Amino acid sequence: MPEFLRLLDARSLSLEPLSVETLQINITRLCNQACRHCHVDASPRRREMMARATWEQCLAVLERHPSIRHLDITGGAPELHPDFEQIVRRARAVGRHVMVRHNLTVTLDGHPISGASMAHLPGFFAEQGVEVISSLPYYRASLTDRQRGRGVFDKSVEAIRRLNAEGFGRPGSGLLLDLVYNPAGAYLPPDQCSLEAEFRRELREKLGLEFNRLLTMTNMPIHRFRQQLEQRGGYERYMEKLMENFNPAAAAGVMCRSMISVDHQGRLYDCDFNQMLGVELDAEAPATIFDFDMSALLARRIRFARHCFGCTAGAGSSCGGATADSGMEQEAS
Ligand code: SF4
Ligand code: SF4
Repeated sequence: MPEFLRLLDARSLSLEPLSVETLQINITRLCNQACRHCHVDASPRRREMMARATWEQCLAVLERHPSIRHLDITGGAPELHPDFEQIVRRARAVGRHVMVRHNLTVTLDGHPISGASMAHLPGFFAEQGVEVISSLPYYRASLTDRQRGRGVFDKSVEAIRRLNAEGFGRPGSGLLLDLVYNPAGAYLPPDQCSLEAEFRRELREKLGLEFNRLLTMTNMPIHRFRQQLEQRGGYERYMEKLMENFNPAAAAGVMCRSMISVDHQGRLYDCDFNQMLGVELDAEAPATIFDFDMSALLARRIRFARHCFGCTAGAGSSCGGATADSGMEQEAS
């Protein structure tokens, strides 16, 4: 039995699916950036795109199931998909809350293949009332650029300024801009509330920027981040840290209990991380969006494995940030 399951068993924890409130669709691996910690291995060289028939089916599933309240669109940089705007408009037209994982810099960089301008994105997001969720690893240039590439901080600041000008992050606008923090190294994120206050103070006072929430995420021990740890001989030490900081309250809130992730070919997964590892749904569950079956999905066994300790350490980690109070010391290394 995998050690994550052994631990759940030893603690008599049963993490069954609770609902499918969110459909997360990964529509492309193409990205204008190639960040060091990217668990998707996205880059300007990737070409995977979700086909029209597949995203049409995702929207049909949304229409059939009003209980799926959120459409979470991710990539790569999802805005680089040729049908991105159509997908957003259609989901909004059927009344769904749409979240876009927006890397900020794409607004300034433009399309890495066609060279087309993407400067209209803040206005489009505002017009459609989407929730914008954007990585900003730190409020200073050095750490952000180290993780995401030289010049990324300055471009991110300019992109936030443009989002703020459209009303994002401004009180009373109803337009939400969330920033995402992840640690620069092999340590757990600090307390989300305190860090949010620190980010707000620094970004407001020094740069005049506004945002709604700061979401803290743990670096998952997969793909590029795992390779870096292995190159430095720190993978096992990091895993031990995640395991030592296992938090049952965080485990209860893992996102796979309330979402389904869809890859660009329409295959279904418990979450984005399982998708990136090619860990498909339990054999009894539907395999693709074309045979979506809510009852069967709610009855499935979630495919937990070793990397799941990344979701359950400290205050927990999910697409929506921390899932619990940590109640335990956060270590830095
Ligand atoms: S911007 Fe996001 S998707 Fe693109 S490389 Fe960086 S982490 Fe990956
Ligand atoms: S990595 Fe594991 S615990 Fe985290 S959301 Fe995915 S399946 Fe659930």
